Amino acid sequence: MAAQDRRVFLVLLGVPGAGKGTQAKLLEELLQIPQISTGDLFRYNLKNETELGLLAKSYMDRGDLVPDEVTIRMVEERLTREDCARGAIFDGFPRNLVQATALDAITEPLGGIALVPLIGLEDDDAMRRITGRRVCRSCGAVYHIDFNPPKQEGVCDVDGGELYQRDDDKPDTVRNRLYVYYKQTAPLVGYYYAKGLLAEVDGGLPIDEVQANLKAALQAKGLI
Ligand code: ADP
Ligand code: AMP
Ligand code: ZN
Repeated sequence: MAAQDRRVFLVLLGVPGAGKGTQAKLLEELLQIPQISTGDLFRYNLKNETELGLLAKSYMDRGDLVPDEVTIRMVEERLTREDCARGAIFDGFPRNLVQATALDAITEPLGGIALVPLIGLEDDDAMRRITGRRVCRSCGAVYHIDFNPPKQEGVCDVDGGELYQRDDDKPDTVRNRLYVYYKQTAPLVGYYYAKGLLAEVDGGLPIDEVQANLKAALQAKGLI
């Protein structure tokens, strides 16, 4: 493989609310590769009322996984964009073994997955994080009403956009999302551990400390 074909792929693992999106945004800047959040891609499609968005809606409303075939196709398409020429940071993908196997097949010819940081967090903390999460309607920036509040309540610091609570961030749906995580996504911890790719960080620490520990894990792998 020619050196210019080698890309850096990271997979962020962790329960909903662990801080994957928050950390992915910070890593984007550090590594100069884009975050690919399948949840964000589905929400974008939903907002624009595309066929894919309408299909995904019923699953997202329940907190269930969108079928693998459409999810994998969406990721494949996203990876063809020019901004992925040096790699990508996956956030919320893969979510089960079928998706993980598909991602291996996609990334192996390009150098494979470099590291899988697992952001660990207790369920009670995850519930508090998710129910207090607020997202900017225009730019997608993520806040927390207590832990990471915007300067002005309800208004995005970046672009003044309106902050809203995701429909699936209400407690009933969150409980199912945690259930789905343990049933379908948690087996990926063992899957990546066996490949020697897992790096666990404590997600219960403040945002900047989690970031520093992630940086250290990347340094240990020679990725920065
Ligand atoms: P995920 O992408 O894993 O679902 P997010 O990055 O959206 O998680 O974070 C969930 C919520 O917790 C958001 O409201 C975010 O502002 C907040 N948050 C993220 N990391 C931390 C942290 N280390 N400490 C406190 N709150 C955090
Ligand atoms: P997230 O933004 O990661 O919390 O995802 C929000 C919702 O989008 C999930 O509850 C699922 O319904 C759907 N979703 C996101 N990523 C995936 C994925 N990799 N596979 C299937 N469904 C997904
Ligand atoms: Zn914004």
